Amino acid sequence: MVLETLEKINQAVKERPRELVKAREKGAKVAGWFNYNIPEEIIYALGLIPIRLGTGGDDRLVEIGARYISTKNCVYTRELVGLFARNQDPYIINSDIVAVDATCLQTYRVAEVIKHYFKVNTLILGVPKHFSEPEGQEYFRKELQSFTRKLEVFAGTELNSNKLSESIKLYNDIRKSLKQLYKYQAIEHQPIKWREVFDIVHAGFYLDREKYLSLLQELLTELKEKHGEPVIGNLNGDARILISGSIIPPGDTKLINIIEQVGGRIVGDDLWSGLNPSLDVNIREASIKGIAGAYINRVPHAALPFLDLETDRRLKNLKQLIRDHRAQGVLYHTLRYCDAFSFKAGETKNVLKVEGVPLLEIHTEYAGSDVEAIRTRAEAFVELIRNKNILENEA
Ligand code: SF4
Repeated sequence: MVLETLEKINQAVKERPRELVKAREKGAKVAGWFNYNIPEEIIYALGLIPIRLGTGGDDRLVEIGARYISTKNCVYTRELVGLFARNQDPYIINSDIVAVDATCLQTYRVAEVIKHYFKVNTLILGVPKHFSEPEGQEYFRKELQSFTRKLEVFAGTELNSNKLSESIKLYNDIRKSLKQLYKYQAIEHQPIKWREVFDIVHAGFYLDREKYLSLLQELLTELKEKHGEPVIGNLNGDARILISGSIIPPGDTKLINIIEQVGGRIVGDDLWSGLNPSLDVNIREASIKGIAGAYINRVPHAALPFLDLETDRRLKNLKQLIRDHRAQGVLYHTLRYCDAFSFKAGETKNVLKVEGVPLLEIHTEYAGSDVEAIRTRAEAFVELIRNKNILENEA
């Protein structure tokens, strides 16, 4: 059954670049950002238009980016540089400032490169590696204070506590709606596919956030009216796969296509371009301190080292998502030169083995030369899960 709201969301995304141009003509300022830990709540409360930048899957842009940044950087960062170098992406063209957090040092490096070569007005937010220690948390609080002060100067206004409270509520509602959407895609006869939900997450990188929330709520109402509450009942023999690992940004469909082509069903993710940013953000007070505490204490990105496997919240979160979405296997995607996720593949595999969940690591780039090799491995993985299903049903 066709979901009418999906079409509305797609249409809104198509119209968004033109909307941004008009908004800027009327004096609005756009704050583009990339990396993983920029609190959009602050950007929005200052009356700026937040846009999450970055695309993937375009080898031509990777090549252009490689003229300015080492080829030993991941393809995502090379494509980011390529986007700025080519200067045709509507969101990059319309960004008046580009905010970057230092979670992954490769993207931090991109900030230096685009400032140097393309004179982009960048603003950096420091992120501590020792994030769980009180000193690390204090560092992040101070960094966010300083980041906010600079953003206030840029916006020409001061952060107002009422506006911040409204902004936090808006973002909490968006996160809540996205989590509910993920439940619908995981049910037995799914009324919406994971891939569609993933695209909806990406629509939220661009759309006006109030309009986005209203579309999400409309979609949830439509789903509820047509399909009731999302309850995961009996599983129907699908090979249910959860995707984890390096970022899969808008435009990078290589792995997703392969999984679908070999008959796997994606039922969830713990990607930083997917569900993860919506998880575990508990803002206890409407202040910079409250936001800093919430962001630094959420599920840690893999670029932030967590050395104790027993208490690593990244792994705990992954295990919980596997249970919530009834995933039977994990496809762990690592981009070449993405040390943050590649280094953690082995430990993730070992931890999941104890839980009886198989993990397949796919180490790749955007070029198409390894598609057939990946297809063969993904096919075997889907077959393994299917056979496991048959054995479990017979037992
Ligand atoms: S975390 Fe990995 S994929 Fe993401 S920017 Fe850093 S190196 Fe690239």
